[in-house]
Amino acid sequence: MGILIKNCNLISMAESREKYEPGMDILVEDKTITKIGKNLTTPENAEVIDAAGKIVMPGFINTHSHIAMSIFRETLDGYSLQDWLEKKIWPMEDKLTPEDIHDASLLSFVEMVKTGTVMANDQYFLPENSIRAAGLIGVRLMTTRTVFDLSNNPDKMLAEQEELIKKYYKGRCGYEKIYLNVGIHGLYTTGKDTVEKVVAIAKKYDVPVHMHFCENEQEVKDIKKNYGVESPVDVLEKYFSDVHTILAHVVKVSDEEIDRLAKLNVSVAHCPVSNMRLGCGIAKIQQMLDKGINVSLGTDGQGSGSNLDMFDSMKFAALLQKGEFENAGYMDSYEVLKMATINGAKALGVADEIGSVEEGKSADIIIVDLSTPVCQPVGNVFSDLVYNAKGSNVCMTIINGKVVMRDGVVEGCVLKTNYKKCADIIARIS
Ligand SMILES: [Zn+2]
Repeated sequence: MGILIKNCNLISMAESREKYEPGMDILVEDKTITKIGKNLTTPENAEVIDAAGKIVMPGFINTHSHIAMSIFRETLDGYSLQDWLEKKIWPMEDKLTPEDIHDASLLSFVEMVKTGTVMANDQYFLPENSIRAAGLIGVRLMTTRTVFDLSNNPDKMLAEQEELIKKYYKGRCGYEKIYLNVGIHGLYTTGKDTVEKVVAIAKKYDVPVHMHFCENEQEVKDIKKNYGVESPVDVLEKYFSDVHTILAHVVKVSDEEIDRLAKLNVSVAHCPVSNMRLGCGIAKIQQMLDKGINVSLGTDGQGSGSNLDMFDSMKFAALLQKGEFENAGYMDSYEVLKMATINGAKALGVADEIGSVEEGKSADIIIVDLSTPVCQPVGNVFSDLVYNAKGSNVCMTIINGKVVMRDGVVEGCVLKTNYKKCADIIARIS
């Protein structure tokens, strides 16, 4: 068995290939892309997918999300970040059951694969229930049990975090598409004792750290006060210098702090929609890219990010930099596509597996149909994808060699039932 994708217009995002290659065939055998070329011979029993006129590219990688927060979609209006968390979200989260987390996660995973995302970096609690849902849909998931000191018992959270790694690390649970990191909610909610323990776990298991970082001014003030430092980057330099750290947001940093971040082992998960929605400001993304920082894209949870459609994230990321910094040359469309794919893979440490369509890599591929009025005629195909295409233009999502979404249909979930369950959850905990 295998899959032969015929006659596609390939945007592989691979450095070794042309940026755009029309009329290409891609052979997938088992989970792996084994051949890319023109007029490939169809192996016996392979499924042939006619992709004539369509784009084939790597699936998107969402590097900052809270997968179970689908149920908090549109609960935000009128709140600041801190008020929304403290007065609205955290009291509701206290009432969530494991089954709630599963059902809410399932909705997110369906949303992801329908809009072309193959992997998300999640940060939440009761993550085994999100892992269960990921297995049903067939998506890749990097996850953690978020740790913070505002709770009564951070050591219990740390123990849960380490147990999760031991149980699921490197496919130990039998579901090979689960990846672990260690998550801290943020430095403003986590003190140095807990941070030291988290870093020790990251080193012990060689996994990245994932945290919110400098999302708004209040957070920066709190970090400075909690740690007695001049800059939040001081804390990174002191505690995180030898672990790979995925920093979500990074809005409130100075030029000098960006220079210092560029010397650290960090990736930035830029979440433009969430930053705008929460009135946090605009991160200096073009400047970070120019300094050589690996910048990827995230949606954040739907509570602040509204949806998991990475096309939205690409468009807002591009427009905000051009508009805010008054430079139409910022954010080249191909570079924005890199942020949503290969840079995301680098951020999560999975670039040897996914993030580009290349022989030997896993078949995590999407097929995009640009034959909708808003995308026609196709002038610059990279810009058409960034500015005009939507998640609904994705007609097929393949993860690890398996078709998980075909023409809008996702196996493993009865959507109407799931909609009702999610609506019931939010009604119950509100
Ligand atoms: Zn977040």
